[in-house]
Amino acid sequence: MRIMTQKLVDVVEDVRCDICGDSTSSEGKHAPQFGVLNADWGYGSRHDGERYELHLCEGCFFSALATLKQERQACRMFDDNADDRAAEFGLVVKSEHG
Ligand SMILES: [Zn+2]
Repeated sequence: MRIMTQKLVDVVEDVRCDICGDSTSSEGKHAPQFGVLNADWGYGSRHDGERYELHLCEGCFFSALATLKQERQACRMFDDNADDRAAEFGLVVKSEHG
């Protein structure tokens, strides 16, 4: 036998970009579209016990990615294989549309 009742449940209504503050669920999108930068620093790290989670809209995500790519190139300036995977930096699954 099921005994039914109604409960109030918190649901995520929107996700706002932590950089520009824009909504990530503007018109035409079925669900919020965002990227996440997170870290959970543990024992042995300088930031032990600190946890970070940043939500980025599509524009800010790719802007951050471009900055990280530049940083990567600067760090590997004298590495012969530096450009091998630069174009796919962080990309795990390719779009079937492009
Ligand atoms: Zn943004």
